[in-house]
Amino acid sequence: MSRFQVRKVAVLGAGVMGAQIAAHLVNVKVPVVLFDLPAREGPKNGIVTKAVEGLKKLKPSPLGVAEDAALIQPANYEEHMALLGECDLVIEAIAERMDWKLELYRKIAPHVAPHAIVASNTSGLSITKLSEALPDAIKPRFCGIHFFNPPRYMYLVELIATPTTQPQVLDDLETFVTSGLGKGVVRAKDTPNFIANRVGIAGMLATMREVEQFGLTYDVVDDLTGKKLGRASSGTFRTADVVGLDTMAHVIKTLQDNLSAETDPFYDSFGTPEVLEVLLEMGHLGQKTKAGFYRKVGRDVLRFELESKDYVPGGQKADEVYGRMLKKPAGERLKLLRESEGPQGQFLWAILRNSFHYAAVHLATIADTARDVDFAMRWGFGMKQGPFELWQEAGWLQVARWIQQDIDEGKALSKAPLPEWVFKGPVAEAGGVHTPEGSWNPTSGQFEPRRLLPVYRRQHFPETVRGSGEATFETAGTTVHEDRNVRVWTLEGDVLIASLKTKMHTISPEVCEGLQLAIETAEKDYQGLVIWSGDEPFSAGADLEATLPAFLAVGVSAIEDAEGFMQQTMLRLRYAGVPVVSAIRGLALGGGCELGLYSARRVAAMESYIGLVEVGVGLVPGAGGLAYIARRAAEAQAQSTHKDLLPFLTEGFTAAAMAKVGTSALESRRIGYLLDSDIVVPNKDELLYVAIQEAKSMFDAGWRAPLKRLFPVAGRSGKATIQGQLVNLRDGGFISAHDFRIASLIANVVTGGEVDAGTLVSEEYLMTLERQAFCELVQHPMTQERILGMLNTGKPVRN
Ligand code: NAD
Repeated sequence: MSRFQVRKVAVLGAGVMGAQIAAHLVNVKVPVVLFDLPAREGPKNGIVTKAVEGLKKLKPSPLGVAEDAALIQPANYEEHMALLGECDLVIEAIAERMDWKLELYRKIAPHVAPHAIVASNTSGLSITKLSEALPDAIKPRFCGIHFFNPPRYMYLVELIATPTTQPQVLDDLETFVTSGLGKGVVRAKDTPNFIANRVGIAGMLATMREVEQFGLTYDVVDDLTGKKLGRASSGTFRTADVVGLDTMAHVIKTLQDNLSAETDPFYDSFGTPEVLEVLLEMGHLGQKTKAGFYRKVGRDVLRFELESKDYVPGGQKADEVYGRMLKKPAGERLKLLRESEGPQGQFLWAILRNSFHYAAVHLATIADTARDVDFAMRWGFGMKQGPFELWQEAGWLQVARWIQQDIDEGKALSKAPLPEWVFKGPVAEAGGVHTPEGSWNPTSGQFEPRRLLPVYRRQHFPETVRGSGEATFETAGTTVHEDRNVRVWTLEGDVLIASLKTKMHTISPEVCEGLQLAIETAEKDYQGLVIWSGDEPFSAGADLEATLPAFLAVGVSAIEDAEGFMQQTMLRLRYAGVPVVSAIRGLALGGGCELGLYSARRVAAMESYIGLVEVGVGLVPGAGGLAYIARRAAEAQAQSTHKDLLPFLTEGFTAAAMAKVGTSALESRRIGYLLDSDIVVPNKDELLYVAIQEAKSMFDAGWRAPLKRLFPVAGRSGKATIQGQLVNLRDGGFISAHDFRIASLIANVVTGGEVDAGTLVSEEYLMTLERQAFCELVQHPMTQERILGMLNTGKPVRN
């Protein structure tokens, strides 16, 4: 069978979702044509071009690099229908109206390529009803593709088949969405709001009901239902403000319109909460109108009070005892909450019970397996654990009895009993819905494994649900060396992997030792070394805290030694006898960035944020970052006809002096922290696979480390030019005296300092300058103020 290839995608509808989906397609290098209605006035593509312009200003940015907006091909249904024929996938994302969507399908049907997949991004309409309007030729290739807003950042995509969708079509689409777009696919049944929004919004409504019942204030509820509960840090009401209360009301209405007491026994609790109606009436739509459940006045955050219909001082926190309870193991946690006397604890038990109850009652109708519900809630609602995972972890049957007791006593939101499978048969025997065999499918009455599509072979360690017993990266493979700081291991025998185990994967002298050992081992027995640490971040940089005691006891020479050792480690990576591949995901800051820069190649997830940020703590990059910038400039100049080295230095200098961080892998490449030859991987879970493949193929291709060579620097004249600009910035009040001091030291290193322009230098020479600058600054009181500020508050001090 031939492979389904997506050479071009058409997105229909340049609204909130359509435009952002188009942007994400550009991010992952898929050509895209974005359609909307022809504009009544002006150029016919007006609606689309305006939407594309809007993408550049949107925060968080839907585009990896703002200029790439130009790569979206604009189109309208009057002039460009023929373009549809070039597309292998058509994603419809127009306004949520069945009649409008059906009319559009009729219009496009004759133009769609005979093999193309057509998919709707509707959040609430029946995919089956939409498909019924399609010609028979398209029906088998039609399904739902439900992205979450913002589509670049939200991992979840729900795919929904109709009774006429060909299974191969869904498999093909799942493969593309997973690997090509980097998303986590969950298959949902064709029921109102699918899985995540159904469970998520019902959960939000239930929470609002319980808030009223227990008489809690919004700030306290948000404190309880945010991070402490393992959910999105904005909690319940601030999330609603961010989403927009009008949007919330719209989604609630979809739930009310499409469900009934017959189809959903929790229907009675779906009424629009009074407070929401009042806020909407007042025109308070949340963040976009600067008032909703909260309102910011100056530095104070006020909260809405329903009784007075006014805002009162907010910022109240939950009782500390609940914070402590929420840190206990799941079983103990739930028991304590359930038995607690106070309204806050009772409230927490109630909302958890409601979520378990709702998920169990609806599992069979909305999803294939319990795993799909748990993943949907994690990926679509930012929960650390889905409802079934938590329930199972806390003790399946015990919790089930508690829920049933509450149902019997009329405390639950619905009288619907828990399904029989909760108490009897395989689930009860296994102690939960997730087992090594698979996750529970109540329809087939079996535990079902994950779908075995070939694309998933690219994910060595996909996210797992608790109870599945699937291998995790911490223990998988064969360990060659392990201590508190690093694990050096191999998965398949050919390539060695070094995983950092420190907090935020910071780099201490011990981590450097581990890396050096990994290189030595790899040179002896393996084809390459991959630096990959399982989860985010790649590395938050050098461990400042670890060097502090030595600094206080011994003085600056301790710092100089530590820096020197890090620099040596970087050079060891660069000149290793096997290729070193850094697999980057999330933050790669400071020393983390340098680790990447000194690897032979970088494989980076799309969501990588790379930068040399030392200036923020009053330092300069001290582990080869500046030496790299100087070398790169010399290499770039060597490839051009320009005589002057300075222009090639500007970008790197500015990035380091301003502590610039790329807001995506693509932007990090623009800044120069990734090279054109590096690989950007859309799906975070494919990173290790690609990095191992890359190391192997480099080895196969006869890879050798670069020869050590000298290179020219811009010297004292280059330094004077940069310095002149810095003086203007300082005297104009744009940078502080300390910023000026730091930037001058950076200029000194990247230009080679007091030497003639064009002088040939070595990396070691520049690294010596780096170390000197670093040590000079570390003794400066203003730098110390910045470091302590960062260590104490996590925020940069501006001085
Ligand atoms: P939107 O209102 O921002 O954009 C809708 C677009 O459809 C507009 O560009 C408009 O010009 C176009 N349009 C309107 N009437 C049309 C017609 N008769 N024919 C062709 N085009 C027409 O909407 P949105 O928020 O982007 O939602 C689009 C779809 O995505 C909806 O089905 C919605 O349910 C779904 N969705 C939205 C979100 C979200 O958070 N906004 C999330 C997931 C899915």
